[in-house]
Amino acid sequence: MERKTRKVGIMGGTFDPIHIGHLILGETAYEQLSLDEVWFLPAGNPPHKQNRKGRASDEQRVEMVRRAIASNPHFRLSLIEMNADGYTYTYRTLERLQKEHPDTSFFFIIGADSLFDFHEWKNPSRICAAANLVVATRNQVSANRLDQAIEENTKRFGGTFLKLDSPNLDISSRNIREMIAEKRSVKYYLTDPVIDFIAEHQIYKDKEQEDGTV
Ligand code: ATP
Ligand code: MG
Repeated sequence: MERKTRKVGIMGGTFDPIHIGHLILGETAYEQLSLDEVWFLPAGNPPHKQNRKGRASDEQRVEMVRRAIASNPHFRLSLIEMNADGYTYTYRTLERLQKEHPDTSFFFIIGADSLFDFHEWKNPSRICAAANLVVATRNQVSANRLDQAIEENTKRFGGTFLKLDSPNLDISSRNIREMIAEKRSVKYYLTDPVIDFIAEHQIYKDKEQEDGTV
């Protein structure tokens, strides 16, 4: 087996837009797991989900991530999940990363909501084989319920699930999109460069449809 000399955290998401919940999550994982770097991987949208009303384009989401992380020397942007056909599966991305970086162990960082959906993702056991899973609390989930979900997923899919010691941050991109459409202030929820970019390009000024699909 190759010797792993580097530890990299992976933050996947739609980042529509990237908010301080994502940034604090990445920074907490960096600190608590002594990571060398955290890579942000904006997910490509499948063609039928591009240019939806009230949402940012793929290019705009990427640009917002770039601006949000620019001031952090151990955060990086990776475009590995952005491609012409849109969507990529997490297990494929992680397996590709593993192959391309044999010296690196990967830590896939998720919020509790993603952990609760995890069994519905494509090939969860291959995700677990390619990376350690790192989970942060969200939506005021109880410690018991989180521990139980971690135990179930460990049993079912193998692999290692680590829990971060992080505050519950009641903040979501969906909520922020709504606030912007209602012309409410999002200062301190987003970084200033992201707020300026959204204003400049008038993103999220239209309300998205209730189910968020459009
Ligand atoms: P949306 O409301 O559009 O679903 P979101 O705020 O959930 O957006 P995503 O891009 O879907 O953001 O999330 C990417 C990852 O970051 C997911 O694993 C999600 O669980 C995690 N995450 C996002 N916001 C938080 C938060 N406030 N606390 C903990 N984890 C979070
Ligand atoms: Mg989400």
